[in-house]
Amino acid sequence: MTAPDASASPNASAPKPRAGLLDIAAYVPGKEHAPGVAKVFKLSSNETPLGASPRAIEAMQAAAGALERYPDGQALALRAAIAEVHGLNIDNILCGNGSDELLGLIAHAYLGPGDEAIITEHGFLVYPIQIRAAGAKPVTVKERDCQVDVEAILAAVTERTRVVFLANPGNPTGTYVPADAVRRLHAGLPPSVLLVLDAAYAEYVRRNDYAAGLELVSGADNVVMTRTFSKIHGLAALRIGWMYGPRAVIDVLNRIRGPFNLNSLAIAAGAAAMRDREFARTAAEFNAHWLDELTRALTTLGLQVTPSVANFVLIHFPDVDGKRAPDADAFLTARGFILRAVKGYGLPNALRLTVGTEEANRGVVEALAAFLKD
Ligand SMILES: *Cc1c(COP(=O)(O)O)cnc(C)c1O
Repeated sequence: MTAPDASASPNASAPKPRAGLLDIAAYVPGKEHAPGVAKVFKLSSNETPLGASPRAIEAMQAAAGALERYPDGQALALRAAIAEVHGLNIDNILCGNGSDELLGLIAHAYLGPGDEAIITEHGFLVYPIQIRAAGAKPVTVKERDCQVDVEAILAAVTERTRVVFLANPGNPTGTYVPADAVRRLHAGLPPSVLLVLDAAYAEYVRRNDYAAGLELVSGADNVVMTRTFSKIHGLAALRIGWMYGPRAVIDVLNRIRGPFNLNSLAIAAGAAAMRDREFARTAAEFNAHWLDELTRALTTLGLQVTPSVANFVLIHFPDVDGKRAPDADAFLTARGFILRAVKGYGLPNALRLTVGTEEANRGVVEALAAFLKD
């Protein structure tokens, strides 16, 4: 007997997915392997080089003693820690299996066939996937030189617009929309349109005119902010995200989420990580130092770097044979430095570099110097 061929086009009588789902290109995570290279530096997924808080690891190990039990479906311990540290009402907090899950829940709850959702030119690729999965249409708004254009977003709003997804800071650009421009965006949207502020990198930003969105959420019925434990808290493996939003939105998402969407190890580790503020502060300081250093060193090499406020930089390569982004990618990978190709984000001649350990950062600059000279 031969096994059914899963890759070939299905025969006419096989189950069929909803219209549009086969138009979705699956998300491609950052590369992890450099074949044949002994020492690999993975700088392709914006993971922290500093690991997780020892307190988070300890809490997770303690929770591992009760794996036979279902987790707390309300994730109370985690929501309490977030509420306490950020000074928020616990009823306005919802946790997810990564913020990716929350973005998907939002799309499925507020979008359907015939609806439009606005995203930006170099926006996070999870948004169009979830918009299409909900049967709606992504409407892409141009950015200006990797900078989100709030007025262009407002100009793209139609009577079909239901949701606007804005990563702030942006990924893979690393640029940010100042608080007054976000307020202008919100003020210009019809009250029926949900503004989703994805602040996955908020903890890294050191700018007086930046706000993650807490105030805006508090004062409106149509704004939510999502955050993650995957970046500065170093818990990407555990999949923990959280959302701050109006009670009405939280209520809707609570109805459609999985009843135990966060596992008990994630709840325990996340709560401990949130309370370890010293660990997060140290991580932010480390990042600020190396973000500066990398930007300066790469610019000195003659590369164009988009000014970033996050834990990564977007590097633009010369439009010269042998020196373009794919050439650099191959050169660096052969030396164990794995960066993120961002062609799928409309940036075919750029690579995104995550701030790594000191050894990784120095090594990648050295390797790029060799690449450009070569
Ligand atoms: C990394 C990232 C996230 C976080 O996703 P998780 O599912 O929480 O790991 C969300 N949004 C953006 C823009 C990101 O880059």
